[in-house]
Amino acid sequence: MIFITGGAGFIGSNFILDWLTQATAEPVLNIDKLTYAGNPYNLGAVEKDARYAFVQADICDETAMATLLSRYRPRAIIHFAAESHVDRSIRSPDEFIRTNVNGTFNLLNRALQYWLTLPGPEKTDFRFLHISTDEVYGSLAPEDAPFTEASPYAPNSLYSASKAASDHLVRAYHQTYGLPTLSTNCSNNYGPFHFPEKLIPLVISNALAGNPLPVYGDGLQIRDWLFVTDHCAALRTVLASGTVGETYNIGGGNEHTNLHVVHTLCDILDELAARSQGSYRDLITFVKDRPGHDRRYAIDAGKIKRELGWQPAESFETGIRKTVQWYLAHGEWVRQVRSGDYLNWLRQQYGDH
Ligand code: NAD
Repeated sequence: MIFITGGAGFIGSNFILDWLTQATAEPVLNIDKLTYAGNPYNLGAVEKDARYAFVQADICDETAMATLLSRYRPRAIIHFAAESHVDRSIRSPDEFIRTNVNGTFNLLNRALQYWLTLPGPEKTDFRFLHISTDEVYGSLAPEDAPFTEASPYAPNSLYSASKAASDHLVRAYHQTYGLPTLSTNCSNNYGPFHFPEKLIPLVISNALAGNPLPVYGDGLQIRDWLFVTDHCAALRTVLASGTVGETYNIGGGNEHTNLHVVHTLCDILDELAARSQGSYRDLITFVKDRPGHDRRYAIDAGKIKRELGWQPAESFETGIRKTVQWYLAHGEWVRQVRSGDYLNWLRQQYGDH
């Protein structure tokens, strides 16, 4: 069995759906607190799959994590659970420190206690795969080379600082206690099931509702975009053949300004879901920039390509079109997420949380 933390979020749910398409996939236990960002609707396609199980739990809960580990005896933990939205980290950093730092610490600690009890072969096979972000490396100037695994950490937001802290804890658990960890730092993901507070789903859902499309500052901040299923494939590769204790950078080599991304979305929407008058570009509204907004991120994914043979399958052009098509075909999902309907459903399913 594999434990997935945060499997009801954007990347975690894509990972579970992708994982269970493999005929030989080990069963999955999805451990998720179901914050505002956790949406079990994402996993409707595997809800009845005998290889899928869900537990609502907080990674900060020592007893719950210890109990789950000793009961299910996983072969690996893939740790996605986090508070992930930079804007929210500016307004209320506490929850970011609690989940991303204390929660990761608790999970590592519990994983170590469990790992120490395993017999030889199971001990050798166990892996703790920690999912992190390129934002820990800070901001690049236009002339700088992309981030490598050797780039110094220089986080600027409360989100990236909390993820940087979690990365250091993972490293230290390997160096100090020998826990077989693997770490990945990935660039911006996009694709299906992305919560509509993030740029791409926000623009698509606002555009379709005829609402303004907010662009921070001059819109010339550069991000390196990766289609989410390419991230999932990279994580499967790292889990299967990554070297214990190592870090792998993952990125699509798709550097684009936020404004270019918004223009591309508007142009695809103009083609696939034309407005009665004008272009979706008419809805673009420049708003005051986010404090501490990093100017540019770019990832050098050479190590994972060279050493593990991973390659992204989607170009930005194909991935972004698939994403728009997915949102157009899943209006009900967007409506439920935006209306809070699914929170009512959650309360009925799992009680208040
Ligand atoms: P998300 O916000 O969509 O999902 C996070 C999930 O974690 C949610 O299901 C939430 O309910 C759960 N969660 C939050 N706190 C929890 C807690 N205390 N206990 C248990 N579950 C909890 O995030 P995402 O975009 O899917 O990101 C997943 C991971 O990938 C994060 O660690 C993030 O830092 C990392 N990452 C994200 C991106 C990106 O572009 N989205 C890029 C690189 C790395």
